[in-house]
Amino acid sequence: MTITSSTKFADLVLQNGRVFTQEAEPSQAQAVAVTGKRIVYVGDNKGAAGFTGPHTQVIDLDGKMVLPSFIDAHMHPVHGAYRYVYCLSLFGINADDLKQAYLDEARRFVAQNPDKPWIQGAGFRRGAFDEIGPRKEWLDAVEAKRPVSILSKDGHSLWVNSRALEIAGITADTPDPPNGVIKRDPVTGHPSGLLQEAAMAIVKPHIPKPAREEIKTTLLWLQQWLNREGITTALDAILEIDAPEVYRAYQELAEEGRLTVRYRGAWRIIPERDFKADIDRALALSQQFDTPHFKTDVFKFFADEVVEEETAYLLAPYTHRSDDWLGLKDWDNDALLAAFTRVHAAGGQVHVHTIGDGAVRYVLDVLEALKQKTDPARWDRRPTLAHLQLVHPDDFRRMAAMDATAVIAPYWCIVEDYFWGMYVDYLGRERAFYGQYPQKRFLENGVNLAFHSDFSVVEPDSMRALYSAMTRRAPRRTFESNYGRMPGFRYVADSRTDLQYGDIGALPPEEECLDLEEALLAYTMGGAYANFLENDLGSIAAGKLADLIVLDRNLYEIPFDDIPQARVVMTLFEGRIVFEDDGTLPKGGRPPLPER
Ligand SMILES: [Zn+2]
Repeated sequence: MTITSSTKFADLVLQNGRVFTQEAEPSQAQAVAVTGKRIVYVGDNKGAAGFTGPHTQVIDLDGKMVLPSFIDAHMHPVHGAYRYVYCLSLFGINADDLKQAYLDEARRFVAQNPDKPWIQGAGFRRGAFDEIGPRKEWLDAVEAKRPVSILSKDGHSLWVNSRALEIAGITADTPDPPNGVIKRDPVTGHPSGLLQEAAMAIVKPHIPKPAREEIKTTLLWLQQWLNREGITTALDAILEIDAPEVYRAYQELAEEGRLTVRYRGAWRIIPERDFKADIDRALALSQQFDTPHFKTDVFKFFADEVVEEETAYLLAPYTHRSDDWLGLKDWDNDALLAAFTRVHAAGGQVHVHTIGDGAVRYVLDVLEALKQKTDPARWDRRPTLAHLQLVHPDDFRRMAAMDATAVIAPYWCIVEDYFWGMYVDYLGRERAFYGQYPQKRFLENGVNLAFHSDFSVVEPDSMRALYSAMTRRAPRRTFESNYGRMPGFRYVADSRTDLQYGDIGALPPEEECLDLEEALLAYTMGGAYANFLENDLGSIAAGKLADLIVLDRNLYEIPFDDIPQARVVMTLFEGRIVFEDDGTLPKGGRPPLPER
């Protein structure tokens, strides 16, 4: 093995392990030596002994598996984690009497937070209540003086108390805004306490924004969770130019050396605003954040929305409608080309939300137009397309030709309630069963593949991500926590079983399953490449940053179905041990919330 260190002894030697380097040569090793932030040696125990001096910390891995740490290529760290740390969380609540359980939890939270000027919460199930939704009066009984607002689990409605309605000025006389509904009591006509879609925006400006210190606390808490899952690099997929407390919080933590996850931030650019001016402002801001742990040279675009709302942009119409509806196309091609051109000229990278095959198609059209005006030697900006629920067969090769990365969520490549409740209806059987969430075809067509969680859409769970990438179904424990008490759902563990309505099982076709090696590569090297970090991360090699994880078992030697039970027992971030399992942690447990 190559020895690149000039100092004689390493700071840290991991020996006697099963190191899977994710490199061609050597693909496996026993030991890794680390000096400072970087790996100085990868090879056998004997070679590592040469790096072991009197002050070297030596860890005997006892045959455990070592991998490069994981990269989550699209998530929402602040927005996602703030809800856990500072808000009333109704997400995990399962009860026969949901109303009672929610109100009990709300009462507890209100009592514990006497100083909060506004009680914010999230996670109630809209579907558990009648047409006009949960009532303001129920919340008034819990808290009448301070405003209360609770976002539904799907994020499409807001449950508020009377005080919140009063502050926002919503009365029986307030008309429904375009694309929004103020639910009303059918007898009195008064607002019931549920605001849908655009109606939420009437209240939102009144809700206090998180303070910088709160955001810092949130990020410090979240990084413990990510480190537990073996994640040390993530893309924040929406940074708002007008939310300075968020990016300043990242910047301060980075400069204070307190981050144990390196973040790249993506500025959100929307067509309704003066997007050229926004891009210029964001570019100027980006110059200020060039610390290794927080960079912001990415620009986020929404090409379309989601299938659930009939707003994903499709090549063929939604099948449940009779009006040939294709969904929403968020950008006009010329405008998107102008925006991409500006980002590209400044050396930035584009990251595009693309759910429908129509969205993928026009984004590729725009990228091709951009490429045509670009010197081929300078086509080095690696566009990333995120989510990719539907991709037309012709477009895989076009993605490869653009050097685009497919950023996919293996967590979603499954059959679950949305599949039966919506996708079969909206997309038709053929598209729903055989056209959704390709994985393998990206690789077969030479497209770089990276994984993401979209947290807080999905909680980070690296073994679940690997398992779903390999089987295209959720682990049994995920089924039990999500559906365990709900009637009408059955877990189907055998891919050969014909799926019936309500079955939670594997999403066909089976040929789209990745093997373990492919899944691990996507989670490491694929994410590194997508983020221009492949010289530092993504594999275990001398000279790279020592971002490593140790697992409690060798994933190559256990049955598929045991993968969700595997756990990360140690995580290193730039040579520092930032997580170590002392054997007392519950699997999948979130870290305890910070004292406030
Ligand atoms: Zn997202």
